[in-house]
Amino acid sequence: MRSIKYIFLLTLLITISYAIFIKPIFLNIKRVNAMSKSKPIFVIQKHDATTLHYDFRLEIDGVLKSWAVPKGPSTDPSQKHLAIMTEDHKMSWAKFEGIIPEGEYGAGTVMIWDYGTYKNIKEKDGKLVPMEQCLENGRIEIWLDGEKLKGSYALIRMQDNKNWLLIKMKDEFTDIPKNPIKNLPNSAKSGKSLSEITKL
Ligand code: MN
Repeated sequence: MRSIKYIFLLTLLITISYAIFIKPIFLNIKRVNAMSKSKPIFVIQKHDATTLHYDFRLEIDGVLKSWAVPKGPSTDPSQKHLAIMTEDHKMSWAKFEGIIPEGEYGAGTVMIWDYGTYKNIKEKDGKLVPMEQCLENGRIEIWLDGEKLKGSYALIRMQDNKNWLLIKMKDEFTDIPKNPIKNLPNSAKSGKSLSEITKL
């Protein structure tokens, strides 16, 4: 009878220690996996610096790869807009809307003009080309799921390494929304205009 009691106590002990110590480890692993599988983000920051431009940023490999687009994105596939590659930014920068003080790099007002997630759609021989490879090849094709912009966009590098073109690809979101730079000038995050952000 005594040994049954011990087995019972032992089982109880194992069950309790599993619940307290082991289970959280499994749950954590699951959560980390889910996070790494979540969709990468993009952000377009309207930046009123020396000259007004739009910083188009894509999460690739844990950083924000960045292009300065003087004219901003277009939903018209016939418009090829210059996108000048600039330095990588930290992921946390995607959440910044506010003022970069005078004297600092990029001094001026920053607005989160659009944001969301994206999906790599660049295929070769029926297989998806990894984003890192697309970047190196100078041919990126992505599907944006933003507050304003949706659908497929291409970033194509020209001969010289810094200059790319941002182009809307033809799909059901062609010309939707129409002329977003002009018609949807405010923040996708706060709804504020540039001057409202500046007054903060
Ligand atoms: Mn900028």
